[in-house]
Amino acid sequence: MSEPTFNALLLREEDKKTRASVEQLTLDALPSADTLVKIEYSTLNYKDALAVTGKGKIVRTWPLVPGIDFAGEIVETSCAHLRPRQKVVLTGWSVGEKYWGGYSQYQRVRGEWLVPLPAGLTTRQAMMIGTAGFTAMLCVNALEAAGLTPDRGPLLVTGAAGGVGSVAVAILAQLGYRVTALTGKPEKYDYVKSLGAQDLADASSWSEAPRALETQKWAGAIDTVGSKVLARVLAEMNYNGVVAACGLAGGTDLPTTVMPFILRGVKLLGVDSVMQPIEQRVPAWNRIVKDLRLDLLETIAARTVSLPEVADAAHAMLSGRLRGRILVDVN
Ligand code: NDP
Repeated sequence: MSEPTFNALLLREEDKKTRASVEQLTLDALPSADTLVKIEYSTLNYKDALAVTGKGKIVRTWPLVPGIDFAGEIVETSCAHLRPRQKVVLTGWSVGEKYWGGYSQYQRVRGEWLVPLPAGLTTRQAMMIGTAGFTAMLCVNALEAAGLTPDRGPLLVTGAAGGVGSVAVAILAQLGYRVTALTGKPEKYDYVKSLGAQDLADASSWSEAPRALETQKWAGAIDTVGSKVLARVLAEMNYNGVVAACGLAGGTDLPTTVMPFILRGVKLLGVDSVMQPIEQRVPAWNRIVKDLRLDLLETIAARTVSLPEVADAAHAMLSGRLRGRILVDVN
């Protein structure tokens, strides 16, 4: 009897170009690893769009099933800490870059990479949060570990209408912080306010390079943009202010000076979600369920695509025609 097949999006390199197509695979085509997961949802992140279109050097092995995050149910595992039928979520670990990822109905991965789905969260909601929301939670954790509390003063979130920014605004507002949302899209003002932002800042007035020190405005900030925007954030921080930097949406450079650090004691904390140790992942996911209003997820991740639609969606994302969090329903 022939083995049952399932669908996966595969990237193959042909004539130095990336070709993406939905293929039918059998389980023995999957990489060997200790845990088999039946995937329910994945998401389309900017990194995935670069991988699928071949426009960025993301893929490190060919052929590759892309998809840097997924949520689903364990089918079989040899890991003592996991069990079949357990719901799990995975982000990072170079999955979807070096290892086969989430754009598949089944995937084999290392059990040590999997986080048990927190009680009260569905796999769909977990992927509406996805890598972006998980990173936002890590940023909030970093700020609070550095001593930030709501009574210290207002906070700024840059790239506020993006995936990380949206969840950051929603969590911080829920925790009682006064949040200013910096966005380059006036049409998104109502959206970021609906997430809990109390004040708005227009990113277009932020294109000028800042002075070494500007008027002090923020007790804390989460920056997803980098470059001149992060430089201005640093220059505007209050004495002893703390900034969590996780993104490069506006560029990888940082044209700043030492002045915010040496004259105002500003702290700049880097946040990485990809290689975050499992000891921090589990509490971060559990905290998301507690501190994020889950009813906001339908607004944050408003679109769902199927596997055959991923390639078009990836092109649309890179050309700026598709915005916001995109859920991938692999089934
Ligand atoms: P999105 O594309 O959803 O959002 C990025 C937002 O940044 C945009 O919505 C926009 O904000 C703003 N932005 C985009 N381009 C520019 C620009 N040229 N100048 C100024 N602002 C700009 O991405 P995500 O939220 O998913 O990710 C944000 C960043 O964080 C990315 O750079 C991503 O690579 C990084 N990231 C890092 C992770 C880590 O582990 N460190 C994990 C996940 C993401 P607005 O719409 O408000 O104008």
